[in-house]
Amino acid sequence: MKPPIAIRELADKMNRRAFQIIADLMGMGVFVTVNQTIDAEVAQRLCAKNGFRFETERRDLETHKTNIQPREPKIELDKDDTLEDLRPRAPIITIMGHVDHGKTTLLDRIRKSDVAAGEAGGITQHIGAYTISYPHPITGKLEQLTFLDTPGHAAFSAMRARGANVTDIVILVVAANDGVMPQTMEALSHAKVARVPIIVAVNKSDHPAANGLKVRQQLQEKGLVPDDWGGDTLYVDCSGLTGLGVDKLIESILLQAELLELKANPNRKAKGNVIESGIEPGGPVATVLVRKGTLRQGDVIICGEHYGKVRSMMDEEGVRLKEAGPSVAVRVLGLNGVPEAGSEFSAVDHEKAARDLAEERMMDRKKSHLDGGRPKRQTLEDIFGRIDERSAKVLKVIVKADTQGSVEAICEALEKIEATKVSLEIIRDAVGAITESDVLLASSADAVILGFHTRVDNSAAEAAKREGVQIKLYAIIYELIDQVKEAMAGLLDPLQKEVVVGQAEVRKVFELSKGGKVAGCYVASGKLVRGKMRVRRRSHVIYEGVSLTLKRFQDEVNEVRSGMECGVRLDGFDDPQEGDFIECYTIEKVAQKLS
Ligand code: GDP
Repeated sequence: MKPPIAIRELADKMNRRAFQIIADLMGMGVFVTVNQTIDAEVAQRLCAKNGFRFETERRDLETHKTNIQPREPKIELDKDDTLEDLRPRAPIITIMGHVDHGKTTLLDRIRKSDVAAGEAGGITQHIGAYTISYPHPITGKLEQLTFLDTPGHAAFSAMRARGANVTDIVILVVAANDGVMPQTMEALSHAKVARVPIIVAVNKSDHPAANGLKVRQQLQEKGLVPDDWGGDTLYVDCSGLTGLGVDKLIESILLQAELLELKANPNRKAKGNVIESGIEPGGPVATVLVRKGTLRQGDVIICGEHYGKVRSMMDEEGVRLKEAGPSVAVRVLGLNGVPEAGSEFSAVDHEKAARDLAEERMMDRKKSHLDGGRPKRQTLEDIFGRIDERSAKVLKVIVKADTQGSVEAICEALEKIEATKVSLEIIRDAVGAITESDVLLASSADAVILGFHTRVDNSAAEAAKREGVQIKLYAIIYELIDQVKEAMAGLLDPLQKEVVVGQAEVRKVFELSKGGKVAGCYVASGKLVRGKMRVRRRSHVIYEGVSLTLKRFQDEVNEVRSGMECGVRLDGFDDPQEGDFIECYTIEKVAQKLS
């Protein structure tokens, strides 16, 4: 067999059932599922046990090549919705803020505000998200809101790093007795990068030491200007503990959501993201958030490398559902494995196609793993090579340094870089070591992390490797600034510059017996190189194209130096005359200057 050695394939070859193979492997102390792969060594032992000889077949270059070509998806995973198909959908809300500022308490309180809560006092369970109904403050109509109830920005960014921008509105919780704290700032940068509207919940307003004004002042400096001070950020004084102001908070969310005009098409196959996942006695479970379409019991879904038929669906009250529309989160049973939080799922028509695609994805991952493949993110050095790929001319950075003084000095120097054509965005600056949270933020924003006299946390180093985020450490400020400048210049589209390589004078024209004319030339300056050429006659350009042949005597050559003679034929030009000049040139890309 050719690696990767998949259980299913191996079982087929030995004419045995996959579960028998899995049982054998268990006996050997190897625990795998049917969709996983095993090492050649394990396969060898397994085959020996079954009376087969196992040999790995080397992939020759040809098959190797066809293997890495992008595969045509066999099934349609998405389709565009027309404007008429779209219907309003509930907003998806994430609550973030500093630890102990009351996120969990607030989430609980909000959940209890559900006016349509089950009469039976349904035992609510944590499934990663919940939906409440609440009357609109103006129309009085019942509206729905879906809250992701894993508070904190780590989950938010981990999801975003996987491409799941599911949140429509962020509630930034700040305890009024404590004010803005480091994680408040962290949460703020995460929300800003995601360009999600922020509502500030000035929490613990019941606290004797509460100072809502101070919170507003602190956050105003960070760009969240309260709407009653002329800005556009909503602030709501509330208390998760007493319930004070929570109704106002929910109403503010509804008003904010109205402005966003959130819509989705409910009448199509479902598509969305995994919010949480795990394994339970009944098998793998995943909470999925439907973002488009309607998910129904019995639908086949594919989710990363996993697939399955939706056996049952449940909401957070444990109520079994037959279907779930846009912005609804449900717990799903029936997948054949545990998908990663954040990964996308799609409902598809055929189980067979889903299985094939899932297997293909797994193979591709194994393959890219073997190649050391990693997600590609921005790095200072490769920006230059990726100019064509990116249209946005923004270099995003995160600055971490040992002291507040250095942070300020670096940010100031970075902001002073004069660049009219590229912009630099410092998405976060803070004192301290580089943490996993920084890496996740960088990953979701495609930013580079710059550290000055600081270190990288172990978990951050691992995350950076996994997410493909670049961390650069410096001990000298101007080195840092210089590298950033270079990288910014690299973001610019290069200028196309023409470089004349040489010029030759046509001294004699020869007719070829088989037709066509050769210009007999004397290279007057530089050299003639096969490639782009133009002909000037009395200073007018009369031809522009490429050389057909370039010969010294009878031999075809690549170039002819100044002072030599040669014969030139040009593609599509058959009228050389004595006294013409043939100019040979190349187009070079040159980096632009910043300003
Ligand atoms: P989280 O870490 O942000 O999720 O915070 P928690 O919700 O766990 O709350 C942390 C502490 O603050 C707990 O002891 C809560 O009882 C308390 N707390 C939460 N909300 C309020 C509030 O509105 N007022 C007051 N006075 N205390 C609160």
